[in-house]
Amino acid sequence: MRKPLVVGNWKMQGGLGRNAELLSALSRGWVADWDAECAVCAPFPYLHQVRSLLGAGAIRWGAQNLSEYAEGAYTGEVSGAMLREFGCEYAIVGHSERRQLFGESNGQVARKYAAALQTGLKPILCVGETLEQRESGSTEAVVAAQLVAVLEVVGPAGLAAGVLAYEPVWAIGTGKTATPEQAQAVHAYLRAQVAARGAAEAKGLRILYGGSVKASNAGSLFSQTDIDGGLVGGASLQADEFLSICKAAKPKA
Ligand code: PEP
Repeated sequence: MRKPLVVGNWKMQGGLGRNAELLSALSRGWVADWDAECAVCAPFPYLHQVRSLLGAGAIRWGAQNLSEYAEGAYTGEVSGAMLREFGCEYAIVGHSERRQLFGESNGQVARKYAAALQTGLKPILCVGETLEQRESGSTEAVVAAQLVAVLEVVGPAGLAAGVLAYEPVWAIGTGKTATPEQAQAVHAYLRAQVAARGAAEAKGLRILYGGSVKASNAGSLFSQTDIDGGLVGGASLQADEFLSICKAAKPKA
């Protein structure tokens, strides 16, 4: 049984006052018998506040990035061990904004994924194609290359120790969501790629969908066989919307 997971990605948004309102609304609104696990990935400077306000409650937290290095003269970098000190459970790795705007390669993403695992974080590996790549028929080749770069470093067990997220770049922050069928097709493909290296690991792997997930489309996306929850950007900044998305996630056999 795969327990669903819904993760909010705040991106570079927030402020002490706004965060406090959002976090307390999330804590108040969370219902103990919902099926999903839930986490919010906040900017680094707010992790202390997130830990103070979420504490030992059901909602967990994480970071949006981490260094591939463990320690040393790497100005501006933040290590996985530092994130663990702030109680982070998750770290997003290879988000398309990091790949596109900050030039992160598949190799660097794989090193970050491995660094996260080494410090006890659960990395959330993002893969996804651009609109141009989809229209030219290369979606599978693109996501396979992104996935295999990580699989070659950590193997299927390392992948199953984290989380995979399919995020079509054309659906992120655009209001355009992949149809449930489009998303399911890529999720099934990704799971099959992992299964070719480890059947049990593939069966247990949580694969999230990300790209303009909202309360109104979460149910139809999450009902697909291989969609185990969501990675949510914009809608994670609105407590009611995010809680409705969490409520919509159901376990998969
Ligand atoms: C994201 O940031 O990972 C994301 C999916 O954003 P949005 O939900 O706003 O499309």
